[in-house]
Amino acid sequence: MNTKPRIVVLGAGYAGMMTTKKLMKALSPEEAEIVLVNKHNYHYQTTWLHEVAAGTINQNQARIMIRDVINPNRVRIIYDTVVKVDKEESQVILEHSELSYDYLVISLGYETNTFGIKGMDEHAFFIEDFDSCRLIREHIEYQFAKFNNDLEADESSLSILVGGGGFTGIEFVGELVEKVPELCKKYDIDRGKAKIINVEAAPSILPTFDNDLVSYGRKSLQERGAHILEGVRINECTNEGFIVGDDNELIKAGTIVWTGGVTGNSILGKSGFELTKGKVTVNGDLRAPGHDNIFVLGDCAWVMNKYENRPYPPTAQAAMQHATTCVTNIQALIHNLPLEEFTFSDKGTVASLGVTDGMGTILIGKKLYGKSAAAMKKVVDDRYLFLLGGPLLLMKKGKIRPF
Ligand code: FAD
Ligand code: NAD
Repeated sequence: MNTKPRIVVLGAGYAGMMTTKKLMKALSPEEAEIVLVNKHNYHYQTTWLHEVAAGTINQNQARIMIRDVINPNRVRIIYDTVVKVDKEESQVILEHSELSYDYLVISLGYETNTFGIKGMDEHAFFIEDFDSCRLIREHIEYQFAKFNNDLEADESSLSILVGGGGFTGIEFVGELVEKVPELCKKYDIDRGKAKIINVEAAPSILPTFDNDLVSYGRKSLQERGAHILEGVRINECTNEGFIVGDDNELIKAGTIVWTGGVTGNSILGKSGFELTKGKVTVNGDLRAPGHDNIFVLGDCAWVMNKYENRPYPPTAQAAMQHATTCVTNIQALIHNLPLEEFTFSDKGTVASLGVTDGMGTILIGKKLYGKSAAAMKKVVDDRYLFLLGGPLLLMKKGKIRPF
């Protein structure tokens, strides 16, 4: 009879991949069976999705075959879509099968939040996953390719509207200011005809950065031709563009992308978890309240910063740290030891503004601007690759090329 516990990890993103990797090291095959479930046979780097969407990176650099970094002889890998977790029966319902668990790790990432804005789901693209981003890239290229073939083409078909000036929106605009001139050249279009417009409701873009950093970012993007509209609320989205502000002005564009916010994966709600803004408010040890064998990590988890009485922002940095605590605690549960509390160690935040520009803070608030910030972002990206797949993966997919 098989008595060893089965640990099921749902989602192969930052939290799920690092959890699986660490479980492989922490537990012997005799101690536990490990199962990883993911929609696709690849893991994509969510933190590079703005580059995939703009077409400034080879899309395959931003994804990794799961079997290249997770040993299928140690981990049972299932490529399927999670439909629901049946907590009462300790079962995961997948599109094509069902799976029982002794310990469950839910790391299914985020979904775009449109806050019920009329027309947004129907007419806007989302920076949500690998597929949604390559669709954006293809759509933008098509708008440029079509322009000189269509005698009636309106200049606004070349415009790209980005709704929301948080990190995702601004990093995407940073890529676009580099990509659009390239597309104009490629398709013989006057650069002045193609507009990049970012619309942010708050008085300033990147509300979590201080004035110095925001001013730097705004100026860098404006100097390269982006229009940044701040304090302008998007009220509605139509097939022509955004309707904004008190006067309900229409801003027309051929490409409309919404980056106005995220929430936890909807599987959480469908599975009957109690939610705070779409996420599970986890206990200090990252377990779902009332469920001693279920951990919720990454963008699915609402993790309170008890010192500041607000949740930590959903980041890859945090998701990877959740994985470490989760693995320690699963080990503790298997061996009847006390569980540890999650503590976040903030390494800083850097936003890219294209390939060679950026800004942010590292460690205890040291500010970085320009090329040094962009280089730091690449170091962070490459560090993750190294942690996940060692030097081989770093050489294959890394951003810093020695030669
Ligand atoms: P994810 O990494 O998103 O992974 C979720 C996984 O679950 C995916 O593999 C998905 O395919 C799978 N999945 C989803 N639904 C199902 C289902 N029903 N069935 C099966 N599988 C499913 N954070 C930083 O710290 N630094 C940054 O520089 C940074 N840059 C970012 C740039 C962009 C453009 C974006 C969008 C986010 C960025 N973030 C950054 C935030 C960061 O990417 C997320 O916080 C992080 O990806 C969360 O990790 P996760 O493991 O929870 O989810
Ligand atoms: P966000 O919630 O951080 O930003 C969304 C922005 O959209 C906000 O500034 C908000 O004011 C604006 N907005 C919302 N409704 C609007 C409306 N009706 N009209 C106009 N503007 C509106 O979301 P995000 O940028 O997708 O980021 C999600 C998370 O991912 C964040 O917590 C962030 O920390 C993380 N992230 C980090 C990085 C990085 O570290 N470099 C990059 C991308 C994302």
